[in-house]
Amino acid sequence: MTQNRPPIGVVGAGVIGLASAARLLEQGHPVTVYARETTPHTTSDVAGAYWAPGALFGDERMHTWALAGLAALRQLAGDPASGVRLNWLNELTSDPMETPDLAPALVVEPVAPGRFPAPWAGFRVRVPQVDTPIYMPWLLRHVLSLGGRVQARAIERLDELAGAYPVIVNCTGLGAQALTGDPMFPIRGQVIRVRKPPALSPEMVSAESPDEITYIIPRTQDCLLGGTYHYGDARTKVDPAIAAAILARCVALAPALAGAAVIEHRVGLRPGRRTVRLAVEQRERGATVIHNYGHGALGHTLAWGCAAEVAALVASL
Ligand SMILES: Cc1cc2nc3c(=O)[nH]c(=O)nc-3n(C[C@H](O)[C@H](O)[C@H](O)COP(=O)(O)OP(=O)(O)OC[C@H]3O[C@@H](n4cnc5c(N)ncnc54)[C@H](O)[C@@H]3O)c2cc1C
Repeated sequence: MTQNRPPIGVVGAGVIGLASAARLLEQGHPVTVYARETTPHTTSDVAGAYWAPGALFGDERMHTWALAGLAALRQLAGDPASGVRLNWLNELTSDPMETPDLAPALVVEPVAPGRFPAPWAGFRVRVPQVDTPIYMPWLLRHVLSLGGRVQARAIERLDELAGAYPVIVNCTGLGAQALTGDPMFPIRGQVIRVRKPPALSPEMVSAESPDEITYIIPRTQDCLLGGTYHYGDARTKVDPAIAAAILARCVALAPALAGAAVIEHRVGLRPGRRTVRLAVEQRERGATVIHNYGHGALGHTLAWGCAAEVAALVASL
């Protein structure tokens, strides 16, 4: 089947590039992924991560991608090797909040009073959790097992690939700014990986106040503590004062974390943009570029929904 379909070059091997490559390979296209960094060195590797219910409150396209992402991640949760599983997410705020009416397929319930210290209250929802240290290598292997090729190469201009591919899919995250001139901004996220204390609840916690966000994400081999949303901050060096503050906030929410052994600190720059750019561009030299970048804090939530739209766009060309 692949002989009849034109080859496609995908630029970027984060969650967006790999999910897009997988869907195009399933559609029968020969696909080569070009990437400056691969797992475990992408932003997608730094993420918590979970399917974020907040994506449902975006515009119509976001809503569609988020629901398609939910369905795809739920399916992957059936394969333990993928690193995706279903888990409870406690969504807390410091201001009173009503239990929202989310997608019909989502189990949502109020958090029991007293479960977390005041002023924290909210709801819990059962969502796919993406254990990135397992999932990202699995996703790369999945692309290779479908017949995809991955090349370590930094692309200076998208037109470099125009001679080899009639269609190029641009999934370069924050790197898209340099390739397209599109104004983007980093959203800095600093996290701490700690050993999981035996007494720690396996449920995820996200606690948001007007000033900051705190999250606790117990995973298979570790527990991830966060975090920060610093808009326009491109510093990739770990800030020890921020790390100490994250740890203190997490211990206040889950005292079992007191004294947890730190494995490492990491920083990821989320690819910020006014909104996701998923669109076709006809280049002067004849190649067609499909842009798929700017997913901000929601790349793992939206990846499979956006990948399905990329595959549909390619099919319609
Ligand atoms: C701390 C943190 C927590 C997060 N938690 C969540 C969460 O719970 N749920 C959620 O949905 N999302 C979460 N996110 C957001 C999510 O991680 C991002 O939206 C997602 O990683 C973006 O994926 P991407 O593939 O576009 O970018 P990246 O992962 O940055 O991948 C970009 C790829 O493009 C390559 N590239 C760039 N420029 C070039 C070039 N010129 N030539 C060749 N290759 C190039 C890079 O090397 C890389 O391979 C979190 C992010 C952070 C930092």
